Amino acid sequence: KCKLEKNKRFRFFEPGMEMAAIRRGEIEEALRKAIPAGRIQPRYQPLIRLRNGQLVGYEMLSRWRLNDGSLRLPGEFIAIAEETGLIGKVFYCLLKQAVRDMRGWPSHLFLAVNLSPVQFNDDDLVEDILQIVTDAGIAPERLEIEVTENALVADIASARDIITRLKHAGIRIALDDFGTGYSSLRHLNELPVEKLKIDRSFVHDIECNESSQTIVETITLMAHNLGLQVTVEGIETEEHARRVIAYGCDIGQGFLYGEPLPDAALAEQAHKLTQNAQARL
Ligand code: C2E
Ligand code: MG
Ligand code: MG
Ligand code: MG
Repeated sequence: KCKLEKNKRFRFFEPGMEMAAIRRGEIEEALRKAIPAGRIQPRYQPLIRLRNGQLVGYEMLSRWRLNDGSLRLPGEFIAIAEETGLIGKVFYCLLKQAVRDMRGWPSHLFLAVNLSPVQFNDDDLVEDILQIVTDAGIAPERLEIEVTENALVADIASARDIITRLKHAGIRIALDDFGTGYSSLRHLNELPVEKLKIDRSFVHDIECNESSQTIVETITLMAHNLGLQVTVEGIETEEHARRVIAYGCDIGQGFLYGEPLPDAALAEQAHKLTQNAQARL
C-alpha cells in the first residue's frame, strides 16, 4: 500500500520533469558557490553611435565561467537566480566588477546593465546601486539600466517608484527588448525612460520582411517624437546597419560591431572599431 501511495505521488512528475528539477537544483547549488568564487563574470558588448560609428558605451552581459573553462550563458542561469533569490547577489557582484573595470575606460563611455524584474521588490536597490557606483568614483550619469517591458507590467507602481528615484540620481533607464512584450505605450507616457532598445527579432529579417522595416522605422519615429533615443540590437551585417541608419536609429549593437568580451580585450576591440569607423567615412 505504501509503495502504491509513493508511486501515486511520483506520478505527478514525468521522467523529463524530474531530470529538469534535479538539474535546476544542481545549478542552484553550484551558483551559490560560483558567486563568492568570482565565477560570475561581466562581458562587455560595444554600443555604437550609428551615424559616425563611434563607440559610446558597453552593455554588460553576464557569463558563468565553469571549472573546465567553458562559459555558461545567462539564458541557462538568470531565471534560476531569479527563482531562488540569488539574482540580487549576482547583480551586485557583477556591478562591483564592472565599476572597477570602468575606471580604466575613457570617461565618456557609459555602462548599460540589465535589471531583473524581481529586483523591483528590493527596497534598498537605488541606494545600493548608488553606493557601489560612487564608491568606485564613477558618476551615476555613466550608468544606464535596462529593464524589459514585461517587468513593468508585473508591478507598475514599484517599478515607477524605483525608476523615478534612479532618474533623480542621474541614472538613465532603457526599455529593453522593446516590441516583444506587452508594449503598452502607456509605459512611455508614465515612466521617465530615456531610451528604447528595439528587439533583435525585428532586425533579423529586416532585409526581407517589410513589416519589420515599417516597425523599426515607426518605433524610431515615435520614440524621437517623444524625445527618446533608440538603440537597435542584433546588427549582424552591413545591410542591417545600412537599413537601421536609414531609419534614423541612434545606437547600434550586434556582432557586426563586436561580441561581448572581457575587460582585458576591450582596448583592442575599440581600436578596430575606430579603424572601421574611419574606413566607412
Ligand atoms: P539582452 O539584454 O537583450 O542582451 C542582448 C543579447 O543579445 C545578449 O545575449 C547578446 O550576446 C546577444 N547579441 C548581441 N548582439 C547580437 C547579434 O548581433 N546577434 C545575436 N543573435 N545576438 C546578439 P546574452 O548575453 O546571451 O544575454 C541574453 C539575455 O540575458 C540578455 O538579453 C538579458 O536579458 C539577460 N541577461 C544577461 N546578463 C544579465 C544579467 O547580468 N542580469 C540580468 N537580469 N539579465 C541578464
Ligand atoms: Mg539588455
Ligand atoms: Mg536587449
Ligand atoms: Mg534582447
